[in-house]
Amino acid sequence: TERTLILVKPDGVKRGLTGQIIARIEAKGYTIAELKQVSATRELLAQHYAEHEGKPFYEPLVEFMLSGPVVAIVAEGHAVITGFRSLAGTTDPTTAAPGTIRGDLGRDWGLKVQQNLVHGSDSPESAAREIGIWFGN
Ligand code: ATP
Repeated sequence: TERTLILVKPDGVKRGLTGQIIARIEAKGYTIAELKQVSATRELLAQHYAEHEGKPFYEPLVEFMLSGPVVAIVAEGHAVITGFRSLAGTTDPTTAAPGTIRGDLGRDWGLKVQQNLVHGSDSPESAAREIGIWFGN
């Protein structure tokens, strides 16, 4: 069955939303295969966000992801990659649809980086790569 890498970002952990986010993943019918709270390192984030290097939001994004612990999750289930991205909602929490994690729980805080509570892999290739980065192979 398919697997995806989900991160509860530092804003989600700090606001005490980890439980609610996990509950939504489980309520949708996906299985939690792995779960740990970790403090990311610059090296790890450079790998995870390699595709964004050089973009204007890259440095603020890395600083934000270093600002507190994250909860890394491997979720499992048929079509979980697309399913979780749908649960998460679109990137900008201001306009993410109500009913989604970002739409219900997130907002714009007027910062350089969108603090949008969660990350989810966007393809099977990204999922395999990102699970390797956060959990090893
Ligand atoms: P992901 O689940 O990987 O976060 P995404 O498609 O929502 O997927 P990406 O485009 O991969 O987001 O960007 C990674 C992260 O960088 C976003 O989740 C957000 O926190 C931040 N970000 C993306 N675009 C912007 C932007 N234009 N301005 C500020 N922050 C941004």
